[in-house]
Amino acid sequence: MITPTSVWEKAVKTLETTMNVYSFDVWIKNLRAVDIVENKLVLSAPSSISYRIVKENYLETIREALASQNLFINDVELLSEETVGETSEEKPKPQEPKATEFAPERLISLNPKYTFDSFVVGDSNKFVHAAARAVAENPGERYNPLFIYGGVGLGKTHIMHAIGNYILSHNENMKIIYTTSERFTNEFIDSIRSASRSDTTKFKEYYRSCDVLMIDDVQFFENKPSVQEELFHTFNDLHGENKQIILTSDRMPKEIPSLEERLRTRFEWGIIADIQPPSLETKVAILQMKAEQERYLVPINVIYLIAERVESNIREMESLLSRVALYAKMLSSDITLELAQESLKDYTDHRKAQMSADTVIDATCKYFNILRSDLVGKKKTKDIVEPRQIAIYLILEFLSLPLASIGQIFGGRDHTTVIHARDKISERLKVEKKLVVQVNDIRNMVKGN
Ligand code: ADP
Ligand code: MG
Repeated sequence: MITPTSVWEKAVKTLETTMNVYSFDVWIKNLRAVDIVENKLVLSAPSSISYRIVKENYLETIREALASQNLFINDVELLSEETVGETSEEKPKPQEPKATEFAPERLISLNPKYTFDSFVVGDSNKFVHAAARAVAENPGERYNPLFIYGGVGLGKTHIMHAIGNYILSHNENMKIIYTTSERFTNEFIDSIRSASRSDTTKFKEYYRSCDVLMIDDVQFFENKPSVQEELFHTFNDLHGENKQIILTSDRMPKEIPSLEERLRTRFEWGIIADIQPPSLETKVAILQMKAEQERYLVPINVIYLIAERVESNIREMESLLSRVALYAKMLSSDITLELAQESLKDYTDHRKAQMSADTVIDATCKYFNILRSDLVGKKKTKDIVEPRQIAIYLILEFLSLPLASIGQIFGGRDHTTVIHARDKISERLKVEKKLVVQVNDIRNMVKGN
């Protein structure tokens, strides 16, 4: 069941990692989800100031976060707390939260900002750019599927949406579906669990009815045979009809351990294009473009400061830029090198402080698709014990917490259990390649990548 709160909670998780810490704390955390109207999540702001600031600055960001989580609810409407009070007196809201039906006609959620024009091309991404252009100009004809891989925050989603936006701008009748492996999985599972058989049919028809299918982050397809089988047939049907398929992943198909062999070979049928970490020049060019888009006046030495501070993740670079800009706004000052240095001073510390045992637990649960209550609970089945041990291992790696307090977090276990978990995973990491990949994935998720 989709409720306003559940949708908002998920979006908040994304916003927490994508927004800068200050804005998130001050403006986003205290918004309240009050309703779902068609494809819109209705939020209420606690004060008129908060209403104004969020409306002017953050609606697009919230929209993106929603779209990245949920196929049905991809738009947002903002009310201020007073207005919510008034309307609910006039016509009381139904008590039951609304369930949302599978409604394919409103599912397209391409980010209009992600275009070829706003994509800076450098040595690191020129190959993927060329392949993406070719696909955008002749979808379904030459490179099918297009498989894009590269590290986190390097522009995979951007370039994928750019293809979609380009195709739509040349032919608005093209039906483009953008989804993520997680959404595809969840929808498929919901559709087979649903009491009505027609939901399963709707799901199948929906995904087979498009001209272009984009699936983001396919490394998260879990080892669920029914889902992979469904994907396999969808792939075959679309490919057979020369419909374009575009996939992204943080690594090559052959390095995705959970992927069935027959899907892997299909993913390798077309062209595989990688995005490398950007050079300093490319990072600078990207920052300059972002500053221009946001109408920030940023001196070149500040641009370099930010570009050098971040290793490769462009999303992180953007968030530093907006952090500097926000700092200047709060002080009603111009952006200068001194101000930028000051505002980025505690940048590393902040990220460390943000990371807690919870971050590791959440990432582990998300990765293995299990409940937090199970992870920290008593269950002893393999599908829970292994993730639990991995979480403990990573908490020890990231944080200098006393063993006993880690035991406490995991349902009051004692320190010997904690040591056992750590040693067990250390041992297995020496020999099990798949586990190395899994632990590394979760490590990256925790680092906010
Ligand atoms: P990924 O999907 O690889 O994790 P995204 O596509 O979400 O990365 O990109 C992260 C952010 O970086 C986005 O805001 C995107 O617009 C920006 N970005 C990435 N590459 C470029 C580029 N070459 N030019 C401009 N912006 C970029
Ligand atoms: Mg992405």
